This record gives sequence, structure tokens and C-alpha cells, in this order.
Amino acid sequence: PFDVLVIGGGPAGASAAIYAARKGVRTGIVAERFGGQILDTTTIENFISVKETDGEKLAAQLEAHVREYPVDIMDSVSVEGLERKDDMIHVTLKNGAVLKSKTAIIATGARWRNVGVPGEEEFRTKGVANCTHCDAPLFAGKDVAVIGGGNSGLESAIDLAGIVNHVTVLEFAPELKADSVLQERVNSLPNVTVIKNAATKEITGTDKVTGLTYVDRETNEEHHIELQGVFVQIGLVPNTEWLEGTVEMDRGQIIVDKQGATSVPGVFAAGDCTDSAYKQIIISMGSGATAALGAFDYLIRH
Ligand code: FAD
Repeated sequence: PFDVLVIGGGPAGASAAIYAARKGVRTGIVAERFGGQILDTTTIENFISVKETDGEKLAAQLEAHVREYPVDIMDSVSVEGLERKDDMIHVTLKNGAVLKSKTAIIATGARWRNVGVPGEEEFRTKGVANCTHCDAPLFAGKDVAVIGGGNSGLESAIDLAGIVNHVTVLEFAPELKADSVLQERVNSLPNVTVIKNAATKEITGTDKVTGLTYVDRETNEEHHIELQGVFVQIGLVPNTEWLEGTVEMDRGQIIVDKQGATSVPGVFAAGDCTDSAYKQIIISMGSGATAALGAFDYLIRH
């Protein structure tokens, strides 16, 4: 059996595995796709001390760093369940096999919800973006749209308004769902326009995004806006469906304490799958380190 079994091979999982292995405990890492979300990322400019890199390069460096240590890496392997039994954590894989470990660190990350319209996939990284903290500066002085009028959509619009020329917020429902303080802030900004009842139909472009077509759900009329960027903000979904009924969660986000511990003894969690306030590479890595040190603390006490 393992001492520490990490589930997920993104920045949080890689960091957790390295911190655990450096304690000389038996460490394994199971991942569906080693690298995680960064594999879908082009330019990364906010991974502090590395001025600029890209997702593929960073993912390769993560893996190379983990391989410096005696970590048992199981890539392209999916986890389906987790259970605490006889003081051990039993982790069930999709192929039916069961891995046993004294502790587990869940780092299965999250995925952005898509609007599912033509152009969204085609222009991803060519004008279609999700992460405002990551990509807003690429649109300095340009016109952009934010799809989604919830808290994350309006936070994104407020953030963008200080950087880009103009922001159009498109909300599908007749009313914005965001907190009223955010709505008031948005209404006070001269370069933000809010359109309600707007069903995005298509993101248009050539080699890059050039516009967005939406249907006014009240009049059924189609409208086209010329712009250079679209931020999709209709939700970040944690990859935790498989944990239903095991660890305590808040809207799918695993609740962790200061040591990264979950509600199940011996089970820790880190990164975008947790209730951390912000979802970023550097934050995921920090919480991966925290969870590994938390797991080690647990090991020396049990
Ligand atoms: P993830 O990266 O999501 O990794 C999750 C891991 O768990 C993967 O290996 C996955 O295969 C695995 N997994 C999931 N479910 C299972 C399962 N059931 N069984 C086994 N394995 C499983 N952040 C920045 O700081 N700067 C940026 O510039 C930036 N740009 C971004 C651009 C895009 C397009 C996206 C999508 C995100 C961006 N982010 C950026 C956010 C950043 O990528 C995430 O915050 C970070 O990757 C989270 O790391 P994580 O390890 O928690 O999860």
C-alpha cells in the first residue's frame, strides 16, 4: 500500500506528489491526463518567476520534476470511487482495480462550462477565453463580451473594464443573477453595456474572433456585435461527481481546512476541486504542498 496516494496530475497533484516524496514516504499519483487544465492553455504569464511559458511546456516540466523522485506514476487512469475502510483509504479505478493507501490527496481539478455554440471551440485561445486573471491583458484596448451575468461574469466584466476598450455582458435570463453590489458597480462603469435576455448564437471570426451573434429572446431578433474577445463565464465545475456522499462538499467543491484536510480522516484535497477562493496555477501548487504536508503530519500521528 501507499502512504500518500495523489489523485489528479495537474499543478496541485504534481506539487503534492513532490512534497510527499521528499518526506521519504511511499507516494503514488493517478491521473486521467497528466498536466491537467494547463494542457489547454497557451500563454501563461502569471506563474511567478517564469515571465512567460506555455501549457505544454509547463506540463512537461511538472512531469519531469515529479520523475526526479521515486513516485509511482499511473497516467491515463481514471478514479471512480474512494472509501475509508479499516483505517485505510481504498481508491477504486475505472478498470475495477483498488489501490490502498494510508492517506489520499484529491486534486482532480475543475472544468469550465461551455456555452456550446459554433465558434467556441474553433476560436478557443484565438479570442475565446475563460480566465480573466490570466487573459485580460491580451485584450488591452479591444472590445470584448462576457457571456454570463452571475457573480463571476460581473467580476470578470469589472476587471476587464479597467483594461479593455468596451465590455458587453450578455445574460440569458431576464435579470442578472449577480450580487447587487456587483450590479451597481457594473452600472457605474461607462464602458460596460449589459444585455439581458440574450441567447448567444455564434462566435464569428476568420483566424481570430471578430464578432458575436445573439438572439434577443423577447423579440426573437438576431443581433451582431463586432468585437475581438469573448470571455465565457457560466461556471467552473469541480471534477468531484465521483465523490458524491463521501467527503463534505459545497456546491461540488471539496471543503478543506488549513492543512488541506477534508471531512474524512486521512483524506486531503488541493487545487481547483476544493473550496479555495481563487483558481490559479500558483494557488493550486501551494495548496498541493499544504495537503502533502498535512498528510505527512497525519501519517506521523497515526
Ligand atoms: P487541473 O489542472 O484541473 O488537474 C486535474 C487533474 O486531475 C488532471 O490530471 C485530470 O486528468 C485529473 N482528474 C480529473 N478527474 C479525475 C479522475 N476521476 N480520476 C483520475 N484523474 C482525474 N491559471 C493560471 O494561473 N494562469 C493562467 O494563465 C491560466 N490560464 C488558463 C487557461 C485555460 C484555458 C484554463 C482552462 C485554465 C487556466 N488557468 C490558468 C487555471 C489553471 O489551469 C488551474 O487553476 C490549474 O490547472 C488547477 O490545477 P489543479 O491541479 O487543481 O487541477
